[in-house]
Amino acid sequence: MISLYIHIPFCKRKCSYCSFYSLTDFDKEQYIDAIIRCVEYWGKKIKQKTDTVYIGGGTPSVLPPKLVCAIMESVHKNFDIQSGAEITIEANPESCDKDFLSAARSCAINRLSLGVQSFCDAELAAIGRLHTAQDAAEAVYRARALGFDNISCDLIFGLPHQTCVSFCKSLDMLAGLDIEHISCYNLQVEDNTPLADSDVRLPDEDLQEQMYFLACEKLKSRGYLHYEISNYAKPGFQSRHNSGYWTGKDYLGLGPAAHSKIADIRYAFDADIVRFTSKTDFEFDTVQRIDDELFEKLMLGLRTSRGIEMSMLKNGAGLISRLCDAGLAQVKDDMLCLTERGFYVSNSIITEIALAQEKPEQEEQ
Ligand code: SF4
Repeated sequence: MISLYIHIPFCKRKCSYCSFYSLTDFDKEQYIDAIIRCVEYWGKKIKQKTDTVYIGGGTPSVLPPKLVCAIMESVHKNFDIQSGAEITIEANPESCDKDFLSAARSCAINRLSLGVQSFCDAELAAIGRLHTAQDAAEAVYRARALGFDNISCDLIFGLPHQTCVSFCKSLDMLAGLDIEHISCYNLQVEDNTPLADSDVRLPDEDLQEQMYFLACEKLKSRGYLHYEISNYAKPGFQSRHNSGYWTGKDYLGLGPAAHSKIADIRYAFDADIVRFTSKTDFEFDTVQRIDDELFEKLMLGLRTSRGIEMSMLKNGAGLISRLCDAGLAQVKDDMLCLTERGFYVSNSIITEIALAQEKPEQEEQ
């Protein structure tokens, strides 16, 4: 069983914080023609069953509806999609119109992931988003009316102008819309983005930490499970596609800048749409063996509330016990998982646990 990801590298305009591979001016028909050839190529070659499909971006909702249908027609024709598969498409509120949503429904797409980011117009404008809070709410109502009963929305904390009060308002709005799944990310200021080069003031670290714990508390009180560092879901609505990444399942990513993992090898296409569309076969541009499998498993598993099997750890009993005493981790039924406090500092904890596996002598000191 494999997960399938298809990248749509188009946006109407670049947001000021964005470091993803997406373009504003390329011929969409030419690109979708290449993606369909790529789907055919890999469908024939890999011959695996697929139980999750994710069309992400970029902004897939900028595609004309007929191109969304053309991609899905090719996916259904070339991959053995299992009955009950989770099929997600991403959209942004300003382009998530009735025609796009109807086309998505008509080709069996059953999950919508909407880039809301905030319900405060000043915050949205400050990061160059093209939509308002009202546009986002209307997109959710429209999707519901057209039959989407599994909607995920993205929120960001740590935005310019954001306060705990305005962030609470965004959380309450989403919970009030009865959204099934919420991804809540801390703003990352990446090098070489307009945001990094600007002098706009961002909430300081203490405020960002308060926002993280506000999200934990508020969403839990509204019945959401905090099942991964940045992800919350109503019971039964955890993202099956993303859960596959965290549990080490194989995935095939098609499109420029898309990554794949099959067994213990990572593959990728270059972030170059011209190169991608001119391919005659669709072999990957880079291939890399995963040589630190244990670190990979720790890093992925400890992102989730399920955690990792204690049997994976050969050393570090003292460290684990200190983390548990400090309320950063817990061990239950032979599984080690991080608490919400632990999630917030997970990078340093995971590094410490990994180092303890390599240097047991330090652990005993
Ligand atoms: S919509 Fe998403 S992918 Fe597109 S520019 Fe904004 S953040 Fe980047």
